[in-house]
Amino acid sequence: MRNLMVAGNWKMNGDSTMTSELVDEIAAGYVGSDSCELLICPPFPLLGLAANKIQGTSIFLGAQNLSEYNSGAYTGEVSALMLTDAGCQYVIIGHSERRAIMRETNEMIRKKFYAAIDNNLIPILCVGETLEQKEQQLTMEIIEQQLKSVIGDNAASLTNAVIAYEPVWAIGTGLTATPEEAQSIHHFIRGIISSISQEIADNIQILYGGSVNGGNAKGLFSMPDIDGGLIGGASLTASDFLSIVKATNK
Ligand code: PEP
Repeated sequence: MRNLMVAGNWKMNGDSTMTSELVDEIAAGYVGSDSCELLICPPFPLLGLAANKIQGTSIFLGAQNLSEYNSGAYTGEVSALMLTDAGCQYVIIGHSERRAIMRETNEMIRKKFYAAIDNNLIPILCVGETLEQKEQQLTMEIIEQQLKSVIGDNAASLTNAVIAYEPVWAIGTGLTATPEEAQSIHHFIRGIISSISQEIADNIQILYGGSVNGGNAKGLFSMPDIDGGLIGGASLTASDFLSIVKATNK
C-alpha cells in the first residue's frame, strides 16, 4: 500500500519571514487525519530555518537540486552531505527548469541521482515531455529515455526514490493533464519499472506535477497510479497548499 505525498517546490521564491509564516501555517493546518505525507522544498538558504520550523511536526524537508560531487573545488555547488546536514530527507532531481535553463542532461541527472542515493537522500526524479514532444507523440519515448538513462536495468536504485511525472507544458501554465491522461503516463512509468522489478513498481510513489490546485487535485489523486503531487505555484500559499493536502483525504 503506497502512501500519498504532497510535495511543495518553492522554486526561487521566499525569504526568512515568508518561510517562518508559511511553515507555521502549513504545520497548523496539516492534521493527523490528513492522509498524505507532506514535504516542502525551499531554496538552499532557507533550508536551515525551515528545518528548525518543522521540528516536532511530521513535515519532511527537501532541496531542489544538489551537486553530483561530495565536496571540493566546485564553487557555488551544494553537496548531498550538506543537504542531510541541513536536515533534508529528500532532493528534487531533473526538474524541467533545470533541464531547460541550466542545460542539465540525462547523464548529469543520473550522477546527481546516485549522489543522493549514496548519501541517504531520497531523490524525487522528475520526468516529462515538452509540448513539442507531446505534439509529435514522443511522450512515452522521452519518458522512457529519461527514466532508463538514470536507472538502467537497476530497479533497486528506486527502492528509496520517488518519481514525479511533470509534463513541461503543464508547469506554471495553468494547463493540467486530465486525470485520465496523467494516469495513462503514470501507468506506463510503473510498467517500465515492473518489467525490472514488480515489487519496486508496486511500492514506488509516482507524483503528478503541473498546475495542480485545490480544484483539480482530487480527480488526479483518485487515479490508481497517481500517488500525490509535486506542487509549484500553489505551494507558496498555505491555504492553496493545504487545499491540495485535503484533496488526498477520502
Ligand atoms: C513544478 O515546478 O514542479 C510545478 C509543478 O509547478 P506548478 O505547480 O506551478 O505548475
